[in-house]
Amino acid sequence: MRTVKILAAMAITLILAACAHTEHEHGNDHADDLGLYWVKYAAEYQAISAQVYAQATRDLPRFVADTSWTAMPDQQVDPTLPPAVILDIDETVVSNVDFQLTFERPFANHKLDTWSSNVDATPIRGVVEFVAAARELGVTVFFVTNRPCQPIAGNDASCPQKQTTIDDVRELGIDIDANNVMLADERPDWDREKLTRRQHVAKTHRVIMLVGDDLGDFIACVRDEPAGPCKQAGTRETRLADVERFGKYWGAGWYILPNPMHGSWTSVD
Ligand SMILES: [Mg+2]
Repeated sequence: MRTVKILAAMAITLILAACAHTEHEHGNDHADDLGLYWVKYAAEYQAISAQVYAQATRDLPRFVADTSWTAMPDQQVDPTLPPAVILDIDETVVSNVDFQLTFERPFANHKLDTWSSNVDATPIRGVVEFVAAARELGVTVFFVTNRPCQPIAGNDASCPQKQTTIDDVRELGIDIDANNVMLADERPDWDREKLTRRQHVAKTHRVIMLVGDDLGDFIACVRDEPAGPCKQAGTRETRLADVERFGKYWGAGWYILPNPMHGSWTSVD
């Protein structure tokens, strides 16, 4: 009996060791890709996206009705201005997970631009219904993206990427006015710091919601390199403090989607 117990214990130890080994190897092999696989395959990712847009959709009527409300901190509210929401594009409106899974590293903006010109865009779950609900309530939808304007040989447009971006959104069945899409570098002061473009929208509209997948879609000066009005770079520490400082906005005016694949979080220390 004792021998059986010892043999059983040895067998269990061997099995556990084998499992740990497999797990370790799996971790090593796919450590860089786990975020990509999660976005591509996890039902949880779809559920979170649905949840974020459902919450935002439910909140629309009260923020439209409350003319003292703005989703932009420090912004003077003009109750006479018409309401608007600002959405980021990549991983907020359009899913690029298939690009992320296939493109040849390193990343370059022209690779994404070429890919999205050749592939029908895929929506983030919930966004099409959200935009429809916002427009139903008379809310203007603005798109602020850090896809940059860069010249392309043989293309005379000052910002060839703008048309690709507009086409992407239209492929989702979302109509889009070119005036309501703002790319990085489209104007001299529209750099990768999105605050300037949010403030541009706020001149003519009461911004009732921000939707994005990156802290920079909500908060200024969170990037690893200071741009626009920012004097200092963001760090892991300042970014966490920012999340705390603006605590009242999360899920109530600000709606953030998960993106474990890329973003300003990857380059700060
Ligand atoms: Mg994005």
